[in-house]
Amino acid sequence: GFKCGIVGLPNVGKSTIFNAITSAGAESANYPFCTIEPNVGVVSVPDSRMEVLASLVHPKDILPTAMEFVDIAGLVRGASQGEGLGNQFLGHIRQVDAIAHIVRCFEDENVVHVDGNVDPVRDIEVIQTELNLADLDSIDKRILRSQKLVRGGDKQLQAELRVLEKLATALNDGLPARAVSLDAEELSAISGVHLITMKPVLYVANVAEDDLGGSHPFVQKVRDHALSEGAEMVTICGKIESEVAELDSEEKKEFLQELGLEEAGLERMIHAGYRLLGLITYFTAGPKEVRAWTVTDGALAPQAAGVIHTDFEKGFIRAEVIAYDDYVSSGGEAGAKEKGLLRLEGKEYRVVDGDVMHFRFNV
Ligand code: GDP
Repeated sequence: GFKCGIVGLPNVGKSTIFNAITSAGAESANYPFCTIEPNVGVVSVPDSRMEVLASLVHPKDILPTAMEFVDIAGLVRGASQGEGLGNQFLGHIRQVDAIAHIVRCFEDENVVHVDGNVDPVRDIEVIQTELNLADLDSIDKRILRSQKLVRGGDKQLQAELRVLEKLATALNDGLPARAVSLDAEELSAISGVHLITMKPVLYVANVAEDDLGGSHPFVQKVRDHALSEGAEMVTICGKIESEVAELDSEEKKEFLQELGLEEAGLERMIHAGYRLLGLITYFTAGPKEVRAWTVTDGALAPQAAGVIHTDFEKGFIRAEVIAYDDYVSSGGEAGAKEKGLLRLEGKEYRVVDGDVMHFRFNV
């Protein structure tokens, strides 16, 4: 599955948000991979298109697709040098595909801030420094190793060394590795190097209950910072989310309406995470179930089939594809077929978000 790690300083609302995510997920999830570890939560990706499909197909089940959030504790000033929980967080953070960085934008005198006052940009920089130091550490080790091999005559590693040195310079200047523009050749030269600051980041401004509009100067600062990095950002209130997570879906709708919100903050965060990971959804629809499946944007039809079962990928013959809009406007599969909107696609077909698919395969 695709994993998004939650990071942030202590007392910024990580556990609150993580718990809201897991209790929201627990309600709807019947995934085989649902309970993993205490710090890993599986959350279904809300998608209103599923209800539309279900209204046409009347399936027994509706199964949304899911992504994982990992609560990564232990990041404090000095963590990369062994402060706090030390660098235990490194093992967890290396395993995630993207990072949701929770930034405290709420003031609450009952909730201590590790640095005495709320200052979102300073907080972001503290975390960024620790991650940069962790990456510099891996780069230094890698450089030593590669230098030895280059002396031994390994020409290939010369390219890697050059890129590593370029990255080290940026990291020393306080920039994340993802801010360094690398061409395809340079990227391939360091394909064996896994850096934390290369992972895409989503900033999550955790605001006070009455600041959901997102106009607070703290939020503006986070927004400016995110913009300057070309990163995504969402505004949510952890406290409200933890209350919303306790409600059933009817109560939830009412509660959100009262607040003048269309979508819970958690859903915005999930959707932003999904986009950040470069993921798209295709559907299968039949009397048994309407189901959403996740693939990387750019996936070809056989890979999409492989998400359902590896045999589907190995024995792939072709896919029957109806675009979501065509499926809906034709009132379902039969109607789409009649209008000639059901396409037969082969191995080179690139899946489009929303495609409704059937696979033909050899066993
Ligand atoms: P963590 O250390 O980052 O995991 O932070 P927690 O989730 O444990 O939150 C620390 C404290 O801040 C708890 O007492 C929460 O109830 C409180 N908190 C979290 N989110 C909010 C929020 O949006 N508003 C307010 N006022 N308090 C919050």
